Amino acid sequence: MSVRVVARIRPLLENELEKDVIVRADRIAEGSPLTVVKIPSPKNEAEEFSFAFNSVYDRATSQEELFTAEVAPHIKALFQGLDVTIFAYGVTGTGKTHTMRGGLRLAERGVIPRLLSNVFRRGKKIMKDTNGNTTVEVALSYYEIYNDKVYDLLEPPEKRTPAGLPLREKDGKTIVVGLSERSCGDLKDFERIYLEANNNRVTAATKLNAHSSRSHAILRVKVTQTTGDMVKESTASAIDLAGSEDNRRTDNGKERLVESAAINKSLFVLSQCIDAISRGDKRIPYRESKMTRILSLGQNNGITIMILNLAPVRSYHLDTLSSLNVSSRAKRIEVREIENEVVFKQPPRTNSALGGVGGGTNIQR
Ligand code: ADP
Ligand code: MG
Repeated sequence: MSVRVVARIRPLLENELEKDVIVRADRIAEGSPLTVVKIPSPKNEAEEFSFAFNSVYDRATSQEELFTAEVAPHIKALFQGLDVTIFAYGVTGTGKTHTMRGGLRLAERGVIPRLLSNVFRRGKKIMKDTNGNTTVEVALSYYEIYNDKVYDLLEPPEKRTPAGLPLREKDGKTIVVGLSERSCGDLKDFERIYLEANNNRVTAATKLNAHSSRSHAILRVKVTQTTGDMVKESTASAIDLAGSEDNRRTDNGKERLVESAAINKSLFVLSQCIDAISRGDKRIPYRESKMTRILSLGQNNGITIMILNLAPVRSYHLDTLSSLNVSSRAKRIEVREIENEVVFKQPPRTNSALGGVGGGTNIQR
């Protein structure tokens, strides 16, 4: 199991100003790649915190560059039978959906359509190279986890039951009972299914008086390669996580509190899993949230990529700092790689980085 944690800083939006930029990408030494994110302390502007990642992508990074660097290299492994999992993590408004789904224009397409496009291309090539002896099939599942309940996004919202779909263990794997799967022959097929499902997501959220940023959306691409009676199956999962902001600060409504608790818990468990995997621990606490359980995070032999999306401007300051803290485990890797030549200065790590899971105290309010 391998894990990469990378950060992507989005460009300024129309109403944002250059003078409000507080987050920047940096390098450990001249000539080395961007691996560090710097942000001032909210208490003392003169003091700067540094967070290191496997890689950092600055404002100018295009969709294609990000995909080519972080996802394309793993397509081969996917076809060799490994599972690939890509998360977008971060505060609402930092570019998670842009990174994963992207815009309609070709250059603006995100990780998901590019992944599908690559999978179809490679699948076709395999079939051609084997003279049709190997067939490659692609099937999609798409679901969301809202308030710790699982809802199928390939089904219309009317069909939802409030309790959501149950989970069950089968052959050591967690399955979502009743989750639908659509076979998908080409990119056009995919785009039609994906568009319809995303509309379902928005409609369902509106009915609940919620917002789609309050749920995790998980797209599962199953690749089945059949040669005679040999079947190889692997999955690529692309996840647009719920916003990691601490919304106790802005909204104390009861419904939002329930949402918050569910989101905080699952993001907390996710970060613990990533932590444990990157340390090479035997025990990964993946059972402690539905999302990590369904993904069997750390149980499969696979590749996990976490993309931390960041907004560069001051209005996100505290939430940015807290999301940097959550994904900060990457620092350990980096510090080791550079043999402790650089000592990073960091804010104290507290539970509150996760919105107070476990009753931690609040930081920098
Ligand atoms: P999130 O899903 O994290 O809430 P979005 O993906 O909706 O955030 O991004 C917020 C806004 O920023 C959107 O208007 C989006 O188009 C824009 N945006 C985000 N990342 C980029 C980027 N890399 N390039 C251009 N625009 C971006
Ligand atoms: Mg979004």
